[in-house]
Amino acid sequence: MADMKTGVTHLFVPGPTNVPEPVRCAMNVPMQDHRAPDFPELTRPLFTGLKAIFGNESGRVFIYPSSGSGAWEAAISNTLNRGDRVLMSRFGQFSQLWADMAQRLGLDVICVDREWGEGVPLQDYEHHLRNDPTIRAVFATHNETATGVTSDVAGVRQVMDAAGSDALLFVDGVSSIASIDFQQEAWGVDLAVTGSQKGLMLPPGLSMLGVSAKALEAHMSSTMQRCYFSFEDMIKANDAGSFPYTPPVQLLHGLRASLELLFTEGLPQVFARHHRLAEGVRRGVDGLGLSLCAVSPEWYSDTVSAIRVPEGIDGAEVCRIGYHRYRTSFGGGLTKVAGKVFRIGHLGDLNEVMCLAALSAAEMALADAGAKVELGAGVSAAQTYYREATSALEAQNR
Ligand SMILES: *Cc1c(COP(=O)(O)O)cnc(C)c1O
Repeated sequence: MADMKTGVTHLFVPGPTNVPEPVRCAMNVPMQDHRAPDFPELTRPLFTGLKAIFGNESGRVFIYPSSGSGAWEAAISNTLNRGDRVLMSRFGQFSQLWADMAQRLGLDVICVDREWGEGVPLQDYEHHLRNDPTIRAVFATHNETATGVTSDVAGVRQVMDAAGSDALLFVDGVSSIASIDFQQEAWGVDLAVTGSQKGLMLPPGLSMLGVSAKALEAHMSSTMQRCYFSFEDMIKANDAGSFPYTPPVQLLHGLRASLELLFTEGLPQVFARHHRLAEGVRRGVDGLGLSLCAVSPEWYSDTVSAIRVPEGIDGAEVCRIGYHRYRTSFGGGLTKVAGKVFRIGHLGDLNEVMCLAALSAAEMALADAGAKVELGAGVSAAQTYYREATSALEAQNR
């Protein structure tokens, strides 16, 4: 089966996500001069469009040629100082990696560890903030992609306010921004990170960083070493519609097309679609008698579901079978949950029938790996939900 070349390989990893045809086509342009006088006509609307995506009115959005991790580093190195005390929490591979980076960059990290399957612990945050007024920044991973857990970012700022803290709020929104509700300014987020290959439906290679007016102010007194990611260099170039170095021109064309798709559908509709697709996948998981890594509904993610495999079944084997026999890529379990879960990414350019295909392939791969699942039970639970949800949507739009 592995050499079967007809049809497509179904991509259900939570990034890189499927790149829509109009975006792929938009990137197929002859190379152009990034210093040409009309280049700003391409770039300026990208900054404006991204500000709308982030919900950032009075700050700026930077675009870096890097994966999402680059914007993690840009956020820290442009606004903080070595030795600054920061409050973070770890409950999955991505929140863990950001904490690791903060330590390696010389921050004094207070890290709250939670079970993988829970999210940002608001009460613990409030407790630390009340007891330690020297905390300069608070970090939150909005959507932990390793476990399929979404946290309450507005709630983080609320507990900061309640504790009388005016620290900077850093948010990793790589697998949430442009897929589920995110409001940088309304939620008091100072640094918001995303990447091109998730909700923005682009190839990997760009990171975006939404920066509040307050974080731009903090930049003025921050002394950490930075060069490639320097806000100052970026601002100077961006104000002229250019970059301090050669930007990935094709990706910028793709970004223009993906922003157009998102705004044409409408952000509220994009969020509602992600919720609908995710809910169908969750009904499917339930129909198969399986459970999610997210420990309770308050944490359920609308962009990725990490599904626990039954006792004695290897999640990595489920992924291998899915890929080789059924040409379907699922996300594997990372580090602490390796072998214990497999993940269905349901973000980006997707619809109901694609999610049914993912469930169908998952059922076959699970059964082949030895799990006692009833073939069709997940698909049919999801079908029932999608039929209801689709007709409800139609009635609502009438
Ligand atoms: C994908 C992802 C990242 C960034 O990963 P890169 O490989 O550097 O693009 C960071 N955080 C989360 C939550 C992610 O899902």
